[in-house]
Amino acid sequence: MIDTFRHKGMRKQLRRVLLLKGIKNIAVLDAIEKIPRHLFLDKAFEEHAYEDKAFRIGAGQTISQPYTVAKQTELLELKRNEKVLEIGTGSGYQSSVLAECGARVYSIERQKLLHDTARPLLSELGYNIKTFYGDGYLGLPSYAPFDKVIVTAGAPFIPPALIEQLKVGGILVIPVGEGKEQVMKTVTKISATEVEIKEHGEFRFVPLLEDKAGK
Ligand code: SAH
Repeated sequence: MIDTFRHKGMRKQLRRVLLLKGIKNIAVLDAIEKIPRHLFLDKAFEEHAYEDKAFRIGAGQTISQPYTVAKQTELLELKRNEKVLEIGTGSGYQSSVLAECGARVYSIERQKLLHDTARPLLSELGYNIKTFYGDGYLGLPSYAPFDKVIVTAGAPFIPPALIEQLKVGGILVIPVGEGKEQVMKTVTKISATEVEIKEHGEFRFVPLLEDKAGK
């Protein structure tokens, strides 16, 4: 687990790139500058870890592009100590960004291999993030309600359980669409029965898949 001055320099540069692309939230930019993204990637990609690109992380999945991670986090409008549910732990990078922004993070992953890799890495890096092996479509009913929910895979529809498990006033950030591109949506729960949905442009994600846990 080596983090060099060179890595730190590349992260400063990545921060500038994200600022130029329109990310304004200082806590988010600080998190990106602080977290050693190269440790979440395969060694083979280490040289490229601070380019604004997505990479394969095994099991057919990807670590999202830093801009996408920053944008989704910014859309959550996090306040310190909020309870946040993440669907799709993947490498654990997005979880660590949420934690650096002061969130209490609960993250679900349906691929055992990724869950088993991210969990020890996050604790080795000193993050107190609760990771779960399971199906994100169901959320985490026993830990609900959440202040915020973030889905990091392309969903064919907005899973009703995730709205149910959101507090009134809470925000769900979710890329929706079944094709190659998804539309980033924010779903704000304005009352127990009403939501307000806004759209924030197109992004590319791997698909949110039906339950695989335990199979
Ligand atoms: N947040 C991750 C991005 C991972 S890509 C990161 O920062 O690296 C999306 C992840 O969602 C993949 O790891 C994929 O296995 C996972 N996923 C897909 N369908 C899921 C489901 N139904 N429940 C939980 N995780 C799921």
